Amino acid sequence: MHLDAFDLHQPTSVEEALALAQRHAGKFDFLAGGTDLLPNYKMHLNVRPHLISLDHVAELRAFRPEAGWLGATVRLRNLEGSSTLRRRYPGIAEAAEEIATPLVRASGTVGGNLLVETRCFFFNQSYPWRQALGFCLKADGDQCHVVPQKTRCYATFSGDLAPALMVLDAHAEIAGPGGRRRVAVADLYDPKGDGVRRTKLGPGELLVGVQIPPGAEHLKAKYSKLRVRPSFDFPELGVAVALEEKGGKVARLEIALGGLETYPRLMRAQTSPLVGERLTEERVKALSEDLVKAVRPVHNTFLAPDYRRKMTGVYVRRAIGALRSGS
Ligand SMILES: Cc1cc2nc3c(=O)[nH]c(=O)nc-3n(C[C@H](O)[C@H](O)[C@H](O)COP(=O)(O)OP(=O)(O)OC[C@H]3O[C@@H](n4cnc5c(N)ncnc54)[C@H](O)[C@@H]3O)c2cc1C
Ligand code: SF4
Repeated sequence: MHLDAFDLHQPTSVEEALALAQRHAGKFDFLAGGTDLLPNYKMHLNVRPHLISLDHVAELRAFRPEAGWLGATVRLRNLEGSSTLRRRYPGIAEAAEEIATPLVRASGTVGGNLLVETRCFFFNQSYPWRQALGFCLKADGDQCHVVPQKTRCYATFSGDLAPALMVLDAHAEIAGPGGRRRVAVADLYDPKGDGVRRTKLGPGELLVGVQIPPGAEHLKAKYSKLRVRPSFDFPELGVAVALEEKGGKVARLEIALGGLETYPRLMRAQTSPLVGERLTEERVKALSEDLVKAVRPVHNTFLAPDYRRKMTGVYVRRAIGALRSGS
Protein backbone atom coordinates (compact mmCIF):
# COMPACT_ATOMS: atom_id res chain seq x y z
CA MET A 1 0.00 0.00 0.00
CA HIS A 2 1.34 3.43 -0.88
CA LEU A 3 0.18 7.04 -0.90
CA ASP A 4 -0.31 8.55 -4.36
CA ALA A 5 1.19 12.02 -4.85
CA PHE A 6 -1.00 14.96 -3.80
CA ASP A 7 -0.61 18.73 -3.47
CA LEU A 8 -0.47 19.77 0.19
CA HIS A 9 -1.80 23.24 1.04
CA GLN A 10 -1.08 24.79 4.43
CA PRO A 11 -3.34 27.79 5.08
CA THR A 12 -2.91 29.82 8.27
CA SER A 13 -6.48 31.13 8.61
CA VAL A 14 -10.02 29.80 8.19
CA GLU A 15 -10.61 32.32 5.36
CA GLU A 16 -7.52 31.08 3.48
CA ALA A 17 -8.62 27.46 3.94
CA LEU A 18 -12.08 28.29 2.57
CA ALA A 19 -10.58 30.12 -0.45
CA LEU A 20 -8.42 27.07 -1.22
CA ALA A 21 -11.49 24.85 -0.89
CA GLN A 22 -13.31 26.98 -3.47
CA ARG A 23 -10.33 26.98 -5.84
CA HIS A 24 -10.07 23.17 -5.72
CA ALA A 25 -13.81 22.44 -5.44
CA GLY A 26 -14.57 18.72 -5.71
CA LYS A 27 -10.88 17.81 -5.81
CA PHE A 28 -9.76 18.19 -2.20
CA ASP A 29 -10.11 16.91 1.34
CA PHE A 30 -9.41 18.81 4.53
CA LEU A 31 -6.63 17.14 6.49
CA ALA A 32 -6.52 17.31 10.29
CA GLY A 33 -4.52 14.60 12.12
CA GLY A 34 -4.69 12.32 9.08
CA THR A 35 -5.18 9.18 11.22
CA ASP A 36 -8.35 8.27 9.33
CA LEU A 37 -7.90 9.97 5.96
CA LEU A 38 -4.35 8.87 5.14
CA PRO A 39 -4.87 5.13 5.84
CA ASN A 40 -7.96 5.40 3.59
CA TYR A 41 -5.86 7.09 0.88
CA LYS A 42 -3.32 4.26 1.17
CA MET A 43 -6.15 1.85 0.40
CA HIS A 44 -7.11 4.06 -2.57
CA LEU A 45 -10.48 4.94 -1.05
CA ASN A 46 -11.88 8.10 -2.68
CA VAL A 47 -8.47 9.76 -3.12
CA ARG A 48 -8.34 13.47 -4.06
CA PRO A 49 -5.38 15.32 -5.60
CA HIS A 50 -5.38 18.24 -3.10
CA LEU A 51 -5.13 18.11 0.69
CA ILE A 52 -5.83 21.29 2.67
CA SER A 53 -4.10 20.89 6.01
CA LEU A 54 -5.80 22.60 8.97
CA ASP A 55 -2.80 22.21 11.23
CA HIS A 56 -1.50 25.79 10.91
CA VAL A 57 -4.84 27.52 11.50
CA ALA A 58 -4.46 28.91 15.03
CA GLU A 59 -8.20 29.56 15.49
CA LEU A 60 -8.98 25.86 15.12
CA ARG A 61 -6.57 24.89 17.91
CA ALA A 62 -8.35 26.92 20.63
CA PHE A 63 -9.09 24.73 23.65
CA ARG A 64 -11.16 26.39 26.42
CA PRO A 65 -12.80 23.61 28.46
CA GLU A 66 -13.68 26.13 31.19
CA ALA A 67 -15.91 27.87 28.61
CA GLY A 68 -17.07 24.65 26.89
CA TRP A 69 -15.19 25.38 23.62
CA LEU A 70 -13.30 22.64 21.77
CA GLY A 71 -11.55 23.80 18.59
CA ALA A 72 -11.70 21.44 15.60
CA THR A 73 -7.99 20.58 15.62
CA VAL A 74 -7.67 20.10 19.39
CA ARG A 75 -5.97 16.73 19.81
CA LEU A 76 -7.91 13.90 21.47
CA ARG A 77 -4.96 13.53 23.86
CA ASN A 78 -5.69 17.06 25.16
CA LEU A 79 -9.27 16.05 25.97
CA GLU A 80 -8.31 13.02 28.03
CA GLY A 81 -5.46 14.94 29.71
CA SER A 82 -7.49 17.96 30.84
CA SER A 83 -8.60 17.88 34.48
CA THR A 84 -11.00 20.80 33.82
CA LEU A 85 -12.70 18.91 30.99
CA ARG A 86 -12.89 15.73 33.06
CA ARG A 87 -14.44 17.56 36.00
CA ARG A 88 -16.99 19.49 33.91
CA TYR A 89 -17.78 16.92 31.21
CA PRO A 90 -16.78 13.43 32.38
CA GLY A 91 -18.64 11.73 29.51
CA ILE A 92 -16.45 13.50 26.93
CA ALA A 93 -13.24 12.59 28.77
CA GLU A 94 -14.41 8.96 28.98
CA ALA A 95 -15.18 8.88 25.25
CA ALA A 96 -11.84 10.49 24.32
CA GLU A 97 -9.70 8.14 26.38
CA GLU A 98 -11.40 5.12 24.76
CA ILE A 99 -10.59 6.19 21.19
CA ALA A 100 -7.95 4.08 19.42
CA THR A 101 -4.43 4.12 20.93
CA PRO A 102 -2.31 6.81 22.65
CA LEU A 103 -0.42 7.28 19.37
CA VAL A 104 -3.62 7.88 17.36
CA ARG A 105 -4.99 10.19 20.08
CA ALA A 106 -1.79 12.26 19.93
CA SER A 107 -2.57 13.15 16.28
CA GLY A 108 -6.33 12.59 15.96
CA THR A 109 -8.53 15.65 16.45
CA VAL A 110 -12.02 16.59 17.64
CA GLY A 111 -13.11 17.56 14.10
CA GLY A 112 -11.60 14.48 12.50
CA ASN A 113 -13.39 12.28 15.01
CA LEU A 114 -16.79 13.91 14.42
CA LEU A 115 -16.32 13.62 10.66
CA VAL A 116 -14.59 10.25 10.62
CA GLU A 117 -15.38 8.06 7.60
CA THR A 118 -18.00 5.37 8.24
CA ARG A 119 -16.74 1.78 8.37
CA CYS A 120 -17.69 -1.53 6.76
CA PHE A 121 -15.75 -4.70 6.25
CA PHE A 122 -16.35 -4.48 2.49
CA PHE A 123 -14.93 -0.91 2.43
CA ASN A 124 -11.92 -0.82 4.77
CA GLN A 125 -9.92 -3.09 2.50
CA SER A 126 -7.09 -2.75 0.00
CA TYR A 127 -7.80 -1.90 -3.64
CA PRO A 128 -7.10 -5.46 -4.95
CA TRP A 129 -9.36 -6.96 -2.23
CA ARG A 130 -12.23 -4.65 -3.20
CA GLN A 131 -11.55 -5.09 -6.91
CA ALA A 132 -11.83 -8.88 -6.56
CA LEU A 133 -15.36 -8.37 -5.19
CA GLY A 134 -16.39 -5.83 -7.83
CA PHE A 135 -16.10 -2.76 -5.50
CA CYS A 136 -19.12 -1.15 -3.77
CA LEU A 137 -21.10 2.06 -4.07
CA LYS A 138 -19.11 3.82 -1.33
CA ALA A 139 -15.96 3.61 -3.50
CA ASP A 140 -15.43 2.74 -7.16
CA GLY A 141 -18.62 0.63 -7.58
CA ASP A 142 -22.41 0.86 -7.74
CA GLN A 143 -23.75 -1.85 -5.47
CA CYS A 144 -23.91 -2.62 -1.75
CA HIS A 145 -22.78 -6.07 -0.58
CA VAL A 146 -24.35 -5.75 2.88
CA VAL A 147 -27.90 -4.83 1.90
CA PRO A 148 -27.97 -5.77 -1.79
CA GLN A 149 -29.27 -2.72 -3.73
CA LYS A 150 -27.70 0.25 -5.51
CA THR A 151 -28.93 3.37 -3.74
CA ARG A 152 -27.82 3.42 -0.10
CA CYS A 153 -24.68 2.67 1.88
CA TYR A 154 -25.10 1.18 5.36
CA ALA A 155 -21.51 1.61 6.60
CA THR A 156 -21.34 2.16 10.36
CA PHE A 157 -20.54 5.43 12.12
CA SER A 158 -17.76 4.50 14.53
CA GLY A 159 -16.75 7.78 16.16
CA ASP A 160 -16.78 7.89 19.95
CA LEU A 161 -17.02 11.64 20.60
CA ALA A 162 -20.27 12.43 18.79
CA PRO A 163 -22.68 10.62 21.17
CA ALA A 164 -20.93 12.11 24.23
CA LEU A 165 -21.35 15.63 22.76
CA MET A 166 -24.92 15.04 21.56
CA VAL A 167 -26.29 14.29 25.04
CA LEU A 168 -24.93 17.64 26.26
CA ASP A 169 -26.64 19.48 23.36
CA ALA A 170 -23.27 20.66 22.03
CA HIS A 171 -23.33 22.73 18.82
CA ALA A 172 -20.87 22.58 15.94
CA GLU A 173 -19.62 25.85 14.42
CA ILE A 174 -19.30 25.56 10.65
CA ALA A 175 -17.57 28.02 8.30
CA GLY A 176 -18.19 28.07 4.57
CA PRO A 177 -18.50 30.26 1.49
CA GLY A 178 -21.81 31.64 2.86
CA GLY A 179 -20.40 32.62 6.29
CA ARG A 180 -20.63 30.90 9.67
CA ARG A 181 -23.47 28.95 11.28
CA ARG A 182 -24.05 26.72 14.27
CA VAL A 183 -25.93 23.42 14.25
CA ALA A 184 -26.56 20.95 17.04
CA VAL A 185 -24.06 18.07 16.81
CA ALA A 186 -27.17 15.85 16.78
CA ASP A 187 -28.17 17.54 13.49
CA LEU A 188 -24.72 17.48 11.91
CA TYR A 189 -25.39 14.07 10.40
CA ASP A 190 -27.82 13.50 7.56
CA PRO A 191 -30.13 10.52 8.12
CA LYS A 192 -31.90 11.29 4.84
CA GLY A 193 -28.69 11.05 2.82
CA ASP A 194 -27.47 8.09 0.80
CA GLY A 195 -25.04 7.02 3.53
CA VAL A 196 -22.05 7.87 1.34
CA ARG A 197 -22.36 11.58 2.06
CA ARG A 198 -22.32 11.45 5.84
CA THR A 199 -23.01 14.94 7.11
CA LYS A 200 -24.93 18.11 6.37
CA LEU A 201 -21.70 20.03 5.72
CA GLY A 202 -22.07 21.78 2.37
CA PRO A 203 -19.40 21.81 -0.36
CA GLY A 204 -16.31 23.67 0.86
CA GLU A 205 -17.54 23.99 4.47
CA LEU A 206 -15.29 23.16 7.41
CA LEU A 207 -15.82 22.55 11.10
CA VAL A 208 -14.38 25.33 13.29
CA GLY A 209 -15.14 23.80 16.68
CA VAL A 210 -17.74 22.67 19.15
CA GLN A 211 -19.54 24.71 21.82
CA ILE A 212 -20.95 22.93 24.86
CA PRO A 213 -23.77 25.07 26.28
CA PRO A 214 -23.67 26.63 29.77
CA GLY A 215 -25.35 24.38 32.33
CA ALA A 216 -24.19 21.12 30.71
CA GLU A 217 -21.50 20.87 33.39
CA HIS A 218 -24.27 20.23 35.97
CA LEU A 219 -25.51 17.09 34.21
CA LYS A 220 -24.33 13.67 35.30
CA ALA A 221 -22.86 12.15 32.16
CA LYS A 222 -21.26 8.88 31.10
CA TYR A 223 -19.93 7.19 27.96
CA SER A 224 -19.39 3.46 27.63
CA LYS A 225 -18.28 1.44 24.68
CA LEU A 226 -18.48 -2.15 23.49
CA ARG A 227 -15.51 -3.30 21.42
CA VAL A 228 -13.59 -6.44 20.71
CA ARG A 229 -10.10 -5.46 21.91
CA PRO A 230 -10.18 -2.83 24.68
CA SER A 231 -6.68 -1.71 23.73
CA PHE A 232 -7.67 0.03 20.46
CA ASP A 233 -10.76 -1.14 18.60
CA PHE A 234 -13.50 1.01 17.08
CA PRO A 235 -16.86 0.92 18.92
CA GLU A 236 -19.27 -1.89 18.06
CA LEU A 237 -21.66 0.11 20.24
CA GLY A 238 -21.20 3.47 21.99
CA VAL A 239 -23.68 4.62 24.65
CA ALA A 240 -23.71 8.17 26.02
CA VAL A 241 -26.12 9.13 28.80
CA ALA A 242 -26.75 12.50 30.49
CA LEU A 243 -29.08 12.70 33.46
CA GLU A 244 -30.44 15.29 35.84
CA GLU A 245 -32.91 14.42 38.60
CA LYS A 246 -34.77 16.95 40.75
CA GLY A 247 -36.90 15.98 43.74
CA GLY A 248 -36.51 12.32 42.84
CA LYS A 249 -37.90 12.85 39.31
CA VAL A 250 -36.23 13.08 35.92
CA ALA A 251 -35.55 16.72 34.94
CA ARG A 252 -33.51 15.74 31.90
CA LEU A 253 -32.48 12.45 30.34
CA GLU A 254 -30.60 12.19 27.04
CA ILE A 255 -29.24 9.05 25.43
CA ALA A 256 -27.20 8.95 22.22
CA LEU A 257 -26.05 5.79 20.48
CA GLY A 258 -23.12 5.29 18.12
CA GLY A 259 -21.40 2.33 16.48
CA LEU A 260 -24.72 0.82 15.40
CA GLU A 261 -25.97 2.56 12.28
CA THR A 262 -24.74 4.97 9.61
CA TYR A 263 -25.32 7.94 11.92
CA PRO A 264 -25.06 8.49 15.67
CA ARG A 265 -28.57 9.03 17.04
CA LEU A 266 -30.03 11.06 19.89
CA MET A 267 -32.87 8.89 21.21
CA ARG A 268 -35.29 11.65 22.34
CA ALA A 269 -38.44 9.83 21.26
CA GLN A 270 -37.60 7.14 23.83
CA THR A 271 -36.28 9.36 26.66
CA SER A 272 -38.57 12.42 26.65
CA PRO A 273 -41.67 10.56 28.00
CA LEU A 274 -39.65 9.93 31.17
CA VAL A 275 -39.21 13.62 32.01
CA GLY A 276 -41.15 14.35 35.20
CA GLU A 277 -41.31 10.67 36.14
CA ARG A 278 -39.50 8.70 38.82
CA LEU A 279 -36.77 6.56 37.30
CA THR A 280 -37.87 3.23 38.74
CA GLU A 281 -36.23 -0.07 37.85
CA GLU A 282 -39.28 -0.99 35.73
CA ARG A 283 -39.08 2.28 33.76
CA VAL A 284 -35.36 1.83 33.10
CA LYS A 285 -36.02 -1.72 31.92
CA ALA A 286 -38.85 -0.56 29.62
CA LEU A 287 -36.65 2.23 28.25
CA SER A 288 -33.82 -0.17 27.46
CA GLU A 289 -36.29 -2.50 25.69
CA ASP A 290 -37.63 0.43 23.61
CA LEU A 291 -34.08 1.33 22.58
CA VAL A 292 -33.29 -2.24 21.57
CA LYS A 293 -36.37 -2.19 19.32
CA ALA A 294 -35.43 1.19 17.80
CA VAL A 295 -31.91 0.43 16.56
CA ARG A 296 -31.08 -1.34 13.27
CA PRO A 297 -27.45 -2.40 13.02
CA VAL A 298 -26.48 -4.40 9.93
CA HIS A 299 -23.84 -7.07 9.52
CA ASN A 300 -20.81 -5.04 8.44
CA THR A 301 -18.65 -4.89 11.55
CA PHE A 302 -17.06 -7.63 13.64
CA LEU A 303 -19.84 -8.43 16.13
CA ALA A 304 -23.25 -9.76 15.07
CA PRO A 305 -26.07 -7.16 14.77
CA ASP A 306 -28.37 -9.05 17.18
CA TYR A 307 -25.69 -9.09 19.86
CA ARG A 308 -25.03 -5.36 19.41
CA ARG A 309 -28.77 -4.62 19.71
CA LYS A 310 -29.13 -6.70 22.87
CA MET A 311 -26.04 -5.11 24.40
CA THR A 312 -27.56 -1.67 23.77
CA GLY A 313 -30.15 -2.42 26.45
CA VAL A 314 -27.54 -3.83 28.82
CA TYR A 315 -25.20 -0.84 28.40
CA VAL A 316 -28.03 1.69 28.87
CA ARG A 317 -29.19 0.00 32.10
CA ARG A 318 -25.62 -0.16 33.41
CA ALA A 319 -24.87 3.48 32.53
CA ILE A 320 -28.04 4.81 34.20
CA GLY A 321 -27.34 2.64 37.26
CA ALA A 322 -23.76 3.94 37.47
CA LEU A 323 -24.84 7.58 37.15
CA ARG A 324 -27.47 7.22 39.88
CA SER A 325 -25.16 5.41 42.28
CA GLY A 326 -22.27 7.78 41.54
CA SER A 327 -19.95 4.92 40.57
C1 LIG B 1 -5.82 2.03 14.67
C2 LIG B 1 -6.97 3.01 14.72
C3 LIG B 1 -7.95 2.83 15.66
C4 LIG B 1 -9.00 3.74 15.72
N1 LIG B 1 -9.94 3.57 16.70
C5 LIG B 1 -10.92 4.49 16.85
C6 LIG B 1 -11.85 4.37 17.94
O1 LIG B 1 -11.78 3.45 18.75
N2 LIG B 1 -12.82 5.31 18.04
C7 LIG B 1 -12.93 6.35 17.15
O2 LIG B 1 -13.80 7.19 17.32
N3 LIG B 1 -12.07 6.48 16.13
C8 LIG B 1 -11.06 5.60 15.95
N4 LIG B 1 -10.16 5.74 14.93
C9 LIG B 1 -10.46 6.74 13.86
C10 LIG B 1 -9.71 8.07 13.83
O3 LIG B 1 -8.36 7.95 13.75
C11 LIG B 1 -10.00 9.01 14.92
O4 LIG B 1 -11.35 9.00 15.07
C12 LIG B 1 -9.50 10.44 14.76
O5 LIG B 1 -10.22 11.24 15.66
C13 LIG B 1 -9.64 11.09 13.38
O6 LIG B 1 -9.13 12.42 13.51
P1 LIG B 1 -8.07 13.02 12.52
O7 LIG B 1 -7.80 14.41 12.98
O8 LIG B 1 -6.90 12.14 12.36
O9 LIG B 1 -8.92 13.04 11.18
P2 LIG B 1 -8.47 13.02 9.62
O10 LIG B 1 -8.03 11.66 9.27
O11 LIG B 1 -7.49 14.13 9.36
O12 LIG B 1 -9.85 13.40 8.95
C14 LIG B 1 -10.97 12.55 9.03
C15 LIG B 1 -12.08 13.13 8.12
O13 LIG B 1 -12.57 14.35 8.65
C16 LIG B 1 -12.40 15.43 7.73
N5 LIG B 1 -12.04 16.59 8.56
C17 LIG B 1 -11.17 16.59 9.60
N6 LIG B 1 -11.21 17.79 10.23
C18 LIG B 1 -12.12 18.55 9.56
C19 LIG B 1 -12.62 19.87 9.76
N7 LIG B 1 -12.21 20.65 10.77
N8 LIG B 1 -13.56 20.34 8.90
C20 LIG B 1 -14.00 19.56 7.86
N9 LIG B 1 -13.56 18.30 7.64
C21 LIG B 1 -12.64 17.80 8.49
C22 LIG B 1 -11.31 14.98 6.78
O14 LIG B 1 -11.43 15.61 5.51
C23 LIG B 1 -11.60 13.48 6.73
O15 LIG B 1 -12.66 13.25 5.83
C24 LIG B 1 -9.07 4.84 14.82
C25 LIG B 1 -8.09 4.99 13.87
C26 LIG B 1 -7.03 4.11 13.82
C27 LIG B 1 -5.95 4.35 12.80
S1 SF4 C 1 -22.54 -0.83 3.46
FE1 SF4 C 1 -22.56 -1.48 1.31
S2 SF4 C 1 -22.10 0.36 0.09
FE2 SF4 C 1 -21.57 0.78 2.23
S3 SF4 C 1 -19.39 0.34 2.40
FE3 SF4 C 1 -20.49 -1.55 2.98
S4 SF4 C 1 -20.72 -2.72 1.08
FE4 SF4 C 1 -20.15 -0.64 0.51
